[in-house]
Amino acid sequence: MASTAIQIPSRLPLLLTNEGVLLPGSSMRISVETSRNFQLVKSRLLKGTSVKSTIIGVIPNTRDPDSESEELPHLHRIGTAGIAVQVVGSNWPKPHYTLLITGLCRFQIIEVLKEKPYPVAEVEQLDRLEQYTDGIGELSDLSQEFYKYAIQLVEMLDMSVPVVAKLRSLLDSLPKESLPDILASIIRTSTNEKLQILDAVGLEERFKKTIPLLVRQIEGLKLLQKTRKSKPNDEKRTVAIRPIRRNNQIPGRPLHLDAVEEDDDDDGDDIVMLEKKIKSTNMPEQAMKVCIKEIKRLKKMPQSMPEFALTRNYLELMVELPWNKSTTDRLDLRAARVLLDSDHYAMQKLKRRVLEYLAVRQLKNNLKGPILCFVGPPGVGKTSVGRSIAKTVGREFYRIALGGVCDQSDIRGHRRTYVGSMPGRIINGLRNVGVNNPVFLLDEVDKLGKSLQGDPAAALLEVLDPEQNHSFTDHYLNVPFDLSQVLFIATANTTATIPPALLDRMELIQVPGYIQEEKIEIAHRHLIPKQLELHGLTPQQIQIPKEATEGIICRYTREAGVRSLERKIGAICRAVAVKVAEGQHKITNSSSAHVTAKEGKEGVPEETKSESITDTTDLAMPPEMPIVIDRHALKDILGTPIYEMEVSQRLSQPGVAIGLAWTPLGGEIMFVEASRMEGEGQLTLTGQLGDIMKESAHLAISWLRSNAKKYHFTNAVGSFDLLDNTDIHLHFPAGAVTKDGPSAGVTIVTCLASLFSGHLVRSDVAMTGEITLRGLVLPVGGIKDKVLAAHRAGLKRVILPKRNEKDLDEIPANVKEDLDFVTAFCLDDVLNAAFDGGFPAESRHSILNSKL
Ligand code: ADP
Repeated sequence: MASTAIQIPSRLPLLLTNEGVLLPGSSMRISVETSRNFQLVKSRLLKGTSVKSTIIGVIPNTRDPDSESEELPHLHRIGTAGIAVQVVGSNWPKPHYTLLITGLCRFQIIEVLKEKPYPVAEVEQLDRLEQYTDGIGELSDLSQEFYKYAIQLVEMLDMSVPVVAKLRSLLDSLPKESLPDILASIIRTSTNEKLQILDAVGLEERFKKTIPLLVRQIEGLKLLQKTRKSKPNDEKRTVAIRPIRRNNQIPGRPLHLDAVEEDDDDDGDDIVMLEKKIKSTNMPEQAMKVCIKEIKRLKKMPQSMPEFALTRNYLELMVELPWNKSTTDRLDLRAARVLLDSDHYAMQKLKRRVLEYLAVRQLKNNLKGPILCFVGPPGVGKTSVGRSIAKTVGREFYRIALGGVCDQSDIRGHRRTYVGSMPGRIINGLRNVGVNNPVFLLDEVDKLGKSLQGDPAAALLEVLDPEQNHSFTDHYLNVPFDLSQVLFIATANTTATIPPALLDRMELIQVPGYIQEEKIEIAHRHLIPKQLELHGLTPQQIQIPKEATEGIICRYTREAGVRSLERKIGAICRAVAVKVAEGQHKITNSSSAHVTAKEGKEGVPEETKSESITDTTDLAMPPEMPIVIDRHALKDILGTPIYEMEVSQRLSQPGVAIGLAWTPLGGEIMFVEASRMEGEGQLTLTGQLGDIMKESAHLAISWLRSNAKKYHFTNAVGSFDLLDNTDIHLHFPAGAVTKDGPSAGVTIVTCLASLFSGHLVRSDVAMTGEITLRGLVLPVGGIKDKVLAAHRAGLKRVILPKRNEKDLDEIPANVKEDLDFVTAFCLDDVLNAAFDGGFPAESRHSILNSKL
């Protein structure tokens, strides 16, 4: 060891430290804060030119921690001469230095030569290790014994940790005499114990003092390993060795054994491991170059620097990224068809399209071409089809939620100069799946936002563009990553808000909502079995008949997809699971119930007895009887129905009509309400409205005013001038979705016609259609979704524009059967169909009404 060869100066500046005891052969960080030590560092270490000038005497200042006093405290006679290998200065939180000092050998103070500004003493070097080599007699035995324990200790550690392996080899290569100091620094000891070892100038004494400490550490480790074994679930963990930071000591090489605490951050060796990993990772040359540069920087960086952790995280990501790892595609179209069919009921059109897409991909053998985008309301199975596609082609699946993403760094990552910078979602996804050819589902591309932080859609375009994405550069990564093998699929609720450039890259596949029959099938084939399994139930324990499913669909959910349906089924399963568990509890308690009953005879109060007996009779129920979910059970579990009766109740007064609206969430029925009051002819509109809806309202009022005489529309005072002394308020309740589109025109007219004529609109009619000033009805979009919504709501008649007749072909036959379609050419047709017995233009009743 170096200390054997070194000759320390006879005069040494003294550094007093109360941060522990430095032993020869180990290193220690010492924080310099007192003015005395400050002076020493400034005038000796920072100005020193020769190696000798960096040797100082370190004296443990255990007796007088208040070393800031003017008087030099009483000095411990023995200290360790050490070489300052590093001096780090900092001004925060106050000016101070941190020294890294490696102990060389013991010395004793002969005489203090000066006290100010820092003490300097004449010293005598104590350890001259060469004298002791190959000691004989007792010393040799002690040394052998010590060596034996040291080996035992090290072998109890996890040899796969490089630092342990290194320690093991050091035990053989170092002179035996230097081992006590080194091991005493590694194992857990108190300052006092270390002080005793420092004071043990004679080698014999030193061995004798350290052996018990070593044995104590071995016993501690044994105990720890035993308790760990007795905890069966505990993951396999290794007892780690780590640099001492707690007591500021970095022994010999950065090593410390801590028997009680475990820690896997073993920085020094982590870096070596990291470097190895980097070199063994098969990354592109450019990335490799960056990594090697960064690891070089890392090695030079003090661990306390924030950048250390940043750089390390970066390198770990680089190692983990699947630069070259991929799964092999397997595509058997027939199997794909079977899988898609078995995973999803209905959606024939979508499944056919997906199969075509897969077939073309297989033939072309590349991924260039448009990206599939499934467009439809929530809960119709878009995500779930995406997952099936991944399964059919044997790829990993990962969903990237884009809803609300408005910062391009979310896609492209933050530059590493930021604190808290991280890679974007694409790179993050790749790290998660661990292969470079997953299926990425870009969920809700229609909900991308925009902000000052750049346009995420632009970043996404780059990701999706086959011309560019083979060298996609995430800002955090700062080297290109090849995304060309990733299969992207997108989903959206509507195409209206997808940025046009993005829309251009996609092939849209509409996924419409389901009709009731389809939902029932989906529930029984997929959702119920899935939920039963999730809740640990079997069909022997719970039965949900089709009527119950229908009940849930009509009375507890109103949606295009099946998401709330699935949730409600989940709620039922939870409730039943509780019942089943209680039942089992009762069965296991049955014997004790009997006991209580018997005890009752022998003096237990009568009440207890009868209670236990009822308990027992309860048990007489055969336990294998399934719980059947009927109407009552539904009500108990899900509460009173949400949608029952609503329609007819709401239509029980004039001035209400049902329209059909298309929203990104599917078709919806929409109540339009109108009321009038005294005023100056103002029109008030409330509800979430788009501009076009407002125009429709104005058009409707104009048409009504110009046709007031013909239809006998009168205001509150019986005048045909409808707005005379009258304000009108139109409200579009229910739903926070903006109801845009001109299709509410006919509904507004009908609603106002009801208001101004006093007649009730039929409670089973819904309508849609745009109007012109002259009373013509123009075609509108979304007929299928709208009709399905009307059907869901249990309505019987749908009024739609004549020119939409062709759209009825898309409606499933059984829905058509349930509904009566009226196609309207002009508003007369609408009004005739909306009121019972046709619109009573000339009826006596309305004439009377208007005369009143
Ligand atoms: P989306 O992505 O369209 O919002 P999901 O894919 O999350 O909808 O579907 C919601 C749930 O409904 C999932 O559990 C899914 O498996 C199920 N589901 C939807 N459509 C079908 C279908 N046609 N067949 C079987 N299950 C379906």
